[in-house]
Amino acid sequence: MMVLLQLPLFSNEDSVRNAFGIITEKHAPAAVVKFSNDWILFPSRVIFLAYKDNRGTFNELSLSNGYRLLRLDDREIGPLPAKSNSSFANPGLESLMKGSGTYFAVFTSRLNEIQGMVNVVSRRGIINRVLPGSNMICVCTGVNKHLRDVEDGTDLTGKACTVCGFPYVCTVSL
Ligand SMILES: [Zn+2]
Repeated sequence: MMVLLQLPLFSNEDSVRNAFGIITEKHAPAAVVKFSNDWILFPSRVIFLAYKDNRGTFNELSLSNGYRLLRLDDREIGPLPAKSNSSFANPGLESLMKGSGTYFAVFTSRLNEIQGMVNVVSRRGIINRVLPGSNMICVCTGVNKHLRDVEDGTDLTGKACTVCGFPYVCTVSL
């Protein structure tokens, strides 16, 4: 089985701080960043860490902390589900991804650059943790930006940081 994810799209020159704001607003589990030759999927946790470490743009992140995306023209693939987090079967696509050793594929002919979102398909195995009840990553709004992983998936948004008392903002993460 495959899973469709609709994820925020950024470029390598985009600000990590702005991306962090969009990811938390959309509760996105990951984001896609377009570099000159590669499209990289970063789990939200990686972007939260970069935000905590005061990185300026995505050029300051190591690509090895993300997943290289297989780029496809979806006219050859057929219809995708309408909703994010939907499972679907597509044996041809799955074997193409397995053959190329990639977990995620991006559909470049379905970009919606105006809304800044992009359709990504995941092979099922790696995505299970993102579905309901999955990992939550939180960072507090205090100056020290304390990070907290919540493995039972509880959303602590608005709750007080256990270290400094400032409220957390959270999202699910791959
Ligand atoms: Zn704190």
